[in-house]
Amino acid sequence: MTAVRPFSPRFSYLRARLSAAIGAACALCNATAPLGRLCPGCTSDVQHSMREHPWRCARCALALPAPGPCPDCADQAPSLEKVIAAFDYVGPADSLILRYKNARQFQLATAFAALAVDAIRLGSQGNGSPPWPALTPLIPIPGSRRSLQRRGFNPAAEFACRLGRLLNMPVLHSLLYREPDHLKQSTLNRRQRRANTAHLYYCARNCHLPCAVLVDDVLTTGSTLNTAARALIAAGVDRVFAVVIARTPCVARDEPDSIGLPDHPSEHD
Ligand SMILES: [Zn+2]
Ligand SMILES: [Zn+2]
Repeated sequence: MTAVRPFSPRFSYLRARLSAAIGAACALCNATAPLGRLCPGCTSDVQHSMREHPWRCARCALALPAPGPCPDCADQAPSLEKVIAAFDYVGPADSLILRYKNARQFQLATAFAALAVDAIRLGSQGNGSPPWPALTPLIPIPGSRRSLQRRGFNPAAEFACRLGRLLNMPVLHSLLYREPDHLKQSTLNRRQRRANTAHLYYCARNCHLPCAVLVDDVLTTGSTLNTAARALIAAGVDRVFAVVIARTPCVARDEPDSIGLPDHPSEHD
């Protein structure tokens, strides 16, 4: 029996260049698209609300229904400098998140990373650079043991790896950890989510860094990211930013304990 030999790095590189030149299928409409990206039309559709929504929280990227304070930043002490979202958790991109997380289409992480780079450039005030220094580490939010067993991968970590390659940023997996046996976030209301995540993350050691970037898939209320940011700051990180694939829009803010949080498949928020 002939042993299967892995492709050489040079062959993989040439194959990727050839595929990019030929084009691949868009994950949304199946039209020809650059390898690992949506087609230009679907890219425009997915990014529409990020470009055009008139009011948005400058810290957590929440699309607001009117000018005014951000409810997510007002009812907790934000530990994050700024959150950058690739797109709002609305159609048509919400279907991509479901396929990514529920159907194991982890190759979508490449398209998400490309969209996140666009969002970083869009918010860079003209120079195209991220708001953090070069070689700042990306730190994915750790998944629960249950979700890792069910999915076979951590969506936040997969996204962080693809983003790190595009931005030439290291990905740090060995600093932030998650306590076991917490309730699934998507089953809880806003107040319960805060309590559930209050001590969910911790750092295994002190780490004196000027800056770090947390990475997650879907941001709903900010409890997860703020708790993780507090753990990093307690370990010695000076400033914490975050990049997420999708930002849940503002809904039903007059019902803070029974808020109509979207039924997305995230155990984070
Ligand atoms: Zn398309
Ligand atoms: Zn906010």
